[in-house]
Amino acid sequence: MTQWFLKISALKDDMLNAIREDVYWIPPFLKNRMLDFVGEAPDWCITRQRYWGIPLPVWRCESCGKIKVIGDVSELPQKPTDLHRPWIDEIELTCEECGGKMKRVPDVLDVWIDSGNAVWASLTDEEMASGRYGPAEFIIEGRDQIRGWFYSLLGSGMIYWGHPPYKTVMMHGMFLDKDGNKMSKSLGNYIPIDEIKKKMGADPFRLWGVSNVPWDEVRFNEKDVTDAANDLNIILNIGSFLRRFTPNKYVDPLSVDQNLLRIEDRWLISRWNSVLKEITENMDKYEFHLATRKIRSFLINDVSRLYLKILKPRIKNEGEDRDIGLSTLRYIFFQSLKVLSLMAPHTAEYIYIHTYKDALDGEGYNEVSINMYDWPTFDLTRVDRLLEKGMVITTDIVSTVANLRQRVGIKLRWPIDEVVVVSDSTEVENTIDKLYEVIKLLANTEGVKFTRDFLSDYTVEVDEEELVHEFGEQAEHVIGLLRKMNPADVQKQLELRGYVEVDGFQVKKGIRVREDAGEFIGSWTQYGKVYIRKELSPELKKKGLLREVIRRIQDLRKREGMIESDRINVDIYTEGTIRDAVEEFMKELKDSVGAVEVHFVGEDDIPTTDKPKNTWKVEGEPLKIRITKVG
Ligand SMILES: [Zn+2]
Repeated sequence: MTQWFLKISALKDDMLNAIREDVYWIPPFLKNRMLDFVGEAPDWCITRQRYWGIPLPVWRCESCGKIKVIGDVSELPQKPTDLHRPWIDEIELTCEECGGKMKRVPDVLDVWIDSGNAVWASLTDEEMASGRYGPAEFIIEGRDQIRGWFYSLLGSGMIYWGHPPYKTVMMHGMFLDKDGNKMSKSLGNYIPIDEIKKKMGADPFRLWGVSNVPWDEVRFNEKDVTDAANDLNIILNIGSFLRRFTPNKYVDPLSVDQNLLRIEDRWLISRWNSVLKEITENMDKYEFHLATRKIRSFLINDVSRLYLKILKPRIKNEGEDRDIGLSTLRYIFFQSLKVLSLMAPHTAEYIYIHTYKDALDGEGYNEVSINMYDWPTFDLTRVDRLLEKGMVITTDIVSTVANLRQRVGIKLRWPIDEVVVVSDSTEVENTIDKLYEVIKLLANTEGVKFTRDFLSDYTVEVDEEELVHEFGEQAEHVIGLLRKMNPADVQKQLELRGYVEVDGFQVKKGIRVREDAGEFIGSWTQYGKVYIRKELSPELKKKGLLREVIRRIQDLRKREGMIESDRINVDIYTEGTIRDAVEEFMKELKDSVGAVEVHFVGEDDIPTTDKPKNTWKVEGEPLKIRITKVG
């Protein structure tokens, strides 16, 4: 039986060259896999002895054996009813050489010939000649296609065009279950996509999916999709915040006098331009997963957890500063939605329609859909690297304060008097100077102090036996060096790395640092050591208790469905320090909860309720509250 081949051996050098020079392969190791495969590839057998498939367009003379290859249906003497078997087999040609009868070779083509010609298969000669159709910009398939589609396209393209029919090829990984097994109905680990969409939503699934490295195996894990859903909820909440609080007058943050911007506004604008630059570069290199992770992190960490938190107290006062803050958030959030619309299209569109489509006076967001906007552009003149680094140092200090509070049992909403940062870095000193108000707010402290000298009493304890056990003959040398080290530095290394490094030795065990910092407690960060007082002063304790009362009244307001502008009267039953706190900070209490009058009453004057709960023990003291709407 005769088989027909494409003579790959004659093309091989050109193919290898094209793989090396003409195609962008993602991931980069795909290039070597293609080189290996094509380098070893035999001539391509293109015939199959089957019935179904594309008929081989070759006719052979029964008398002299001459063959004729048909390139187009118009070359046949009559148009067949159908181009497939059996109709095509009925067509006979007359041999030009001997006048004999020519019959079609009954084989069909290898299906990879179909796929290899996919780029131009449906185009007419005229369309091909128009020049509008060239190599595909981008194709993507799984790793099994190295010997399949990637190869068949390349071979066909080299014959048809003399160059590859694609410019960029991405290979994706396989979709597996959470334990790393291939999903299949027979194994029972197969989850239909409709079920996931119904249960968790299309956007969370998509956002999770595109956060993964495309060429790695992707393990489906419900928790990761839930995390994506939580992120989207946080992003939706930024949208609803911007619907609830709008500037009285929109102020374009890029063109307003830059001195009117607060440092956090300049930071947000800087940060966005830095992030957008990175995202744009990632997208240009088809690193969609990196772009996705960066836009997620920007919206969650930079916008929601940081900027929004700093902005909230600002918007309590009317005026230009409030307008500038809200306008900055509106502007930057909108830019980020243009990027997010690729990764979470429904969410981005929803926010756009509900928050931006009916633009405020002075804004220009009037397109029918977020998808109608061009990709945003970054402006490096808006980037302030020092400020961005300062904010990193700030969040580091703030999260360390939060840890210290937890260690000594002081709640986050209780103000503390002072945060002390001990460091020998000018960068940290400048940061605390520039971002003083931001640190104060986020750490909920009344002051932040930078110092190079902090009076702590350190003792380094060395367990010589342990070190001899660990380092043998070198122990004496190591111990000597440890004793010469600055105790604070020893402590820093132990806290941040879990070991001390001396002369190339890593000491993990047998060394301990005791510190007596008086009334303070401290913790190392890579930028320095952060201290707070272990106990609140009586005055601050009262302020903390006041926060507890305020929080409960606000909760009651919310449960009774009141809106911001509603005014209330408050009856309170309490004793001891809480009563002192309320009396001392009466004005602050009234301002915070929108109260006209606050009265102290007896326990029995307020009926106890469960829903909403109106009776508590706070720091051991009783508290009972009733609120009534005024007017
Ligand atoms: Zn013939």
